[in-house]
Amino acid sequence: MNVIQNQEKLFELAQAWGMEVGALLRKYATDSLAPAICINDGCDFIAEYEPDCRDGWCEECQEGTVVSAFVLAGIV
Ligand SMILES: [Zn+2]
Repeated sequence: MNVIQNQEKLFELAQAWGMEVGALLRKYATDSLAPAICINDGCDFIAEYEPDCRDGWCEECQEGTVVSAFVLAGIV
């Protein structure tokens, strides 16, 4: 993962939730689950995983490539 790719995925994730990135992070800051997205190119599988998730299961790619919004944002 590189930083620019993370930012793009984070933006994509926020769009899927219909929120700004900052608002999304604030909304989920105290939750036990966070929005997460597959970081593979061309895949936009979205799920909710633990806030520190870096290798959540992607049902599209059949591999552990789903990363939480907080990891993408560099907060966790
Ligand atoms: Zn995927």
